[in-house]
Amino acid sequence: METTIEQIQNFKGKYPKQLWYLFFSEMWERFSFYGMRGMLTYFMINVLVMNEEAANLQYGATQAFVYAFTFIGGMFADKILGFRKSLFWGGILMIIGSVILAIDPKNFFFIGIAFNIIGTGFFKPNISTMVGRLYKDGDERRDSGFSLFYSGINIGALIGGYVCIALGKSYSWNIAFGLAAIVMTISLLTFLFTQKSLGPIGLSPLANDEKSVRQRKEWMVFIGSVICIPLISIMVKQTEYTDYFMYTIGPLTLVYFLIETFKLNKSEQNKMWAALVFILFSIMFWAFFEQSGGSLSIFAANHLGTELLGFITVDPNGVNNAANSLFVIAFAPILGIIWVAMSKRKSEPNTMVKFSLGFFFLGAAFLTLYATIFVADENGMTSLDVFTLAYFIMTLGELCLSPIGLSIMTKLAPTHLQGMMMGMWFLASAYGQYVAGLLGAGMSLPNEQATKLEKLTSYTHGYYQLAIIAVVCGVLLLIFSKQVKKLMQDVK
Ligand code: GLN
Repeated sequence: METTIEQIQNFKGKYPKQLWYLFFSEMWERFSFYGMRGMLTYFMINVLVMNEEAANLQYGATQAFVYAFTFIGGMFADKILGFRKSLFWGGILMIIGSVILAIDPKNFFFIGIAFNIIGTGFFKPNISTMVGRLYKDGDERRDSGFSLFYSGINIGALIGGYVCIALGKSYSWNIAFGLAAIVMTISLLTFLFTQKSLGPIGLSPLANDEKSVRQRKEWMVFIGSVICIPLISIMVKQTEYTDYFMYTIGPLTLVYFLIETFKLNKSEQNKMWAALVFILFSIMFWAFFEQSGGSLSIFAANHLGTELLGFITVDPNGVNNAANSLFVIAFAPILGIIWVAMSKRKSEPNTMVKFSLGFFFLGAAFLTLYATIFVADENGMTSLDVFTLAYFIMTLGELCLSPIGLSIMTKLAPTHLQGMMMGMWFLASAYGQYVAGLLGAGMSLPNEQATKLEKLTSYTHGYYQLAIIAVVCGVLLLIFSKQVKKLMQDVK
């Protein structure tokens, strides 16, 4: 017998069993995604012999496009494909992209990447939306479910990010990209074999249409997305197109959001405005947080030694790449338990307060990074311990904001717009990545002759300013929490 939505949502215990299936599909998908992402810049510089600036710009372009396409993937899932078919289609495109890269990464690099960009757009937002569907409205276990899901993301990110580049550098790039393809296949198979347990979740929104009409629309999406692939590959290659794209996709999305929102009743509209507030603040959060891929990795390479806690020898860039994921894996379940325990005592902070906490932690993390200047030596070398501590604090901030943001999107959007809203949540990440690059560039000293200490001073002062802005955002969220809570109505 088909599982019903009631059977799924009336689960006993902390987590619904379907969450584990989605956890593993997403874990493998993130393995493949972060595995590939971790290879891009290195591969472009060392194998494609591009200069550093071009490689950085093109890396940024791929990240902006990946997250921008989540909006489109979410929208088509709502309107035409449903979450399951979207996921399936996205997974197939990602596998094809990685296979192309595995066969000939040098000659087909950009086309392989373009397949992955579009594929992620169809996969990433929709799996998160399905997690939300496992819960009834008002179920207090939802945030903690998203925290667990978030650990899965980071387990995949950590292992994939580490293994793929290591394989590529020391063995063969074909095999490294091939591994991403194999792992993505595991992700898709996990989903295919367990999707029955999802009952009606994620089925086609056009189930009542005639089969031929439905199929025609679906084929149009499939063909349309394939046509976009060569276009994306050209746009990533020439990064000025990324700027134009970013200038247009945001405003267009906003127009679409307004059109859909004004079709809703007043109470639903208010919830959408609240969701928009969270989305806008998250752009700021990611713009600061994503310094990790840019300025913080340069910081790690130039200003940090290799000694951690006085006796462990590590590569500071390894710490920069892995510390965040490790801290998420260790602390996401703990935070999930804390939220559930607090909600039992009726003292769980609401989403506005959690977001604001996220910004306060972010501010504290950047103040800690600023503090590295006080323990620096005259050669501009500073403490890896303090740097790692900053990552710990930043991760606590991420955990108060990122899984909570996923969760709140699924609470605030009406059912037929959840894919779009999840896409908008990730689109904010695209803008965050984009702004992060600009901020990082602003902090670096253009003068190549500057001493290391001067460079460190420039970065740390930049971080000080980010810290202040983060704290201001946290305060703003607290000030407006009453108004936004009113917009959210029954949603916490
Ligand atoms: N690291 C998280 C993930 O990969 C969050 C990404 C984001 O929203 N920027 O899902």
